[in-house]
Amino acid sequence: MGLIVQKFGGTSVATAEKIRAAAQRAVAAKRDGHQVVMVVSARGKKTDELLTLAAEVTADPPRREMDMLLSTGEQESVALMAMAIQELGEQAVSLTGGQIGIITDSQYSKARIREISVERMRKHLADGAIVVACGFQGVDDEGNITTLGRGGSDTTATALAAVLKADECQIYTDVEGVFTTDPRIVAEARKINTISHDEMLELASLGAGVMHSRSIEFAKKFDVPLRVRPSFSDALGTLIAPHGDDHAPVVTGLALARQEARVTFADLPNRPGVMSVIFSRLANRKIPVDMVVQNVGTDETAEVSFTVPEDDLAATLTAAREAIRELGAGSVQSGTNVSKLSAVGDGMRSHSGVAAQLFRSLSDAGVNIEMITTSDIKISVLVNRDDADTALRTVHTGFGLDQADARPPSIGFRQSAQKQAHGAEGSLESQVVGSLANMEKLVVNDVDLDETQSRISIHHIPDAPGVCADLFEAVAEGDVMVDMIVQNVSRQGSAEVSFTVLRSDIERCLLLVREVVSQWKGAELTFDREIDKLTVTGIGLRSHTGVGEMIFRALGDAGVNVQMINTSEVRLSVVVGAGQGKQAVASLHSAFGS
Ligand code: ASP
Ligand code: MG
Repeated sequence: MGLIVQKFGGTSVATAEKIRAAAQRAVAAKRDGHQVVMVVSARGKKTDELLTLAAEVTADPPRREMDMLLSTGEQESVALMAMAIQELGEQAVSLTGGQIGIITDSQYSKARIREISVERMRKHLADGAIVVACGFQGVDDEGNITTLGRGGSDTTATALAAVLKADECQIYTDVEGVFTTDPRIVAEARKINTISHDEMLELASLGAGVMHSRSIEFAKKFDVPLRVRPSFSDALGTLIAPHGDDHAPVVTGLALARQEARVTFADLPNRPGVMSVIFSRLANRKIPVDMVVQNVGTDETAEVSFTVPEDDLAATLTAAREAIRELGAGSVQSGTNVSKLSAVGDGMRSHSGVAAQLFRSLSDAGVNIEMITTSDIKISVLVNRDDADTALRTVHTGFGLDQADARPPSIGFRQSAQKQAHGAEGSLESQVVGSLANMEKLVVNDVDLDETQSRISIHHIPDAPGVCADLFEAVAEGDVMVDMIVQNVSRQGSAEVSFTVLRSDIERCLLLVREVVSQWKGAELTFDREIDKLTVTGIGLRSHTGVGEMIFRALGDAGVNVQMINTSEVRLSVVVGAGQGKQAVASLHSAFGS
């Protein structure tokens, strides 16, 4: 006998008939001998309707009242669900977040869970009842109702699975599982059988609409086996497991964040601490910053560009003006007609040429790349929004994601998700499980120093399709493994690209690069034979908005200038000058208390 958490999204409980079908699943699991906790979202478009209604009442709804309002959608669903279960002859009890004891901070509309008490749920389960929990909501210390952000029921489900040490957390939806990309845009998208927590974290936080990224954070931190399953059939869906399998394809999936905005700070003083002023202003407003590209300055001034969701642009520009005032220097520009496409795959760790292949697919389709950032398991490119769909389709075909998965389908949970010794002594997970005081805390596992890398930069390259494809193809053909890549278009309208390669490969790489660069008029090559690269590994490094700020502040205080930076959910890399690495590592360790 095990404990299963089953989560049903809005579309799976939209009508009385669907509620009955969901109730039947829970009852079936119960009659199979399991304890069952259901987590239910608001019915259908309920949350959207409530948002619209509020907008009709006031242009500026008070945030506390907004959460009070939105939380009612889930309350309606759980009551109906409990009734449906009882109608089928099993006991059920519906509970709000507050009744369970889901305690959050007081950030209305994006509250984070602090702790969850299990007593009440355990008692009802022991009495033989199915617990039907409201997704998406909690209460703060004062008892005010809070919500966890749109799509937050997934987070409730994995969080409950984590604290109850569930055997599996099943997320029922109206799709077959997790797809290689959005099938509404790319008809050839395929269902993925097995995906790793890391890959799923990246995809979800990069804009793949499948699951709330914070729910995967929980799953990873607490080793919860997660399965996304269709609610309309008995198909097994997609298993989200601690590790993908060994035969994982190089690229597992693609995500598109359509509504992005790009922000560039220019004319900044080129000294440590400047970035920290900017990023602390953004962190205060909880703005999720991504694709940070700092142009390797060739003169006294520095320039940094990054992307934010378009919805956060107004707040970003306010923060920007404050930062510029504080610095007494700098200017800011922004542009909105851009989208971010990301390719994710654990297999990228061990393959060279993945980036080159992606750039080539885009260039074949005539798509220009405005920005590039990479991490060990993902590549993100910023493209013109008008090109976004074309870009997604071409890259999807380019990586062969439309071909059937040759790997065996994932098996039933009891065999496949043999829980990895839940809470094994001494493991990171057990430590986190042990410290439930702050469940959604950022987890920083380690800060590593890599003293084997060099940096190559090419300035003033043409801002046109195919440029990066030519460059990185030449490098890949010479079998040089490229580590970090960042590219940005400068205000002067030309592009600049920087990347790192092993020190032992730099001579060979320079030969390859010089040949390509010689075709571009006015292009200028610079390099640094020795740089230090720091890598922070953890969970939630991008979606916890203050991380960039902490890093810039810690390094700024230590007088270390950041040359390149890459952000991802599970890893954040920073390039600094040779010889500065050790000090930088020490300052990051103390900043993160790791
Ligand atoms: N009802 C909430 C929303 O639509 C939470 C959820 O569905 O997960 O965002
Ligand atoms: Mg929903």
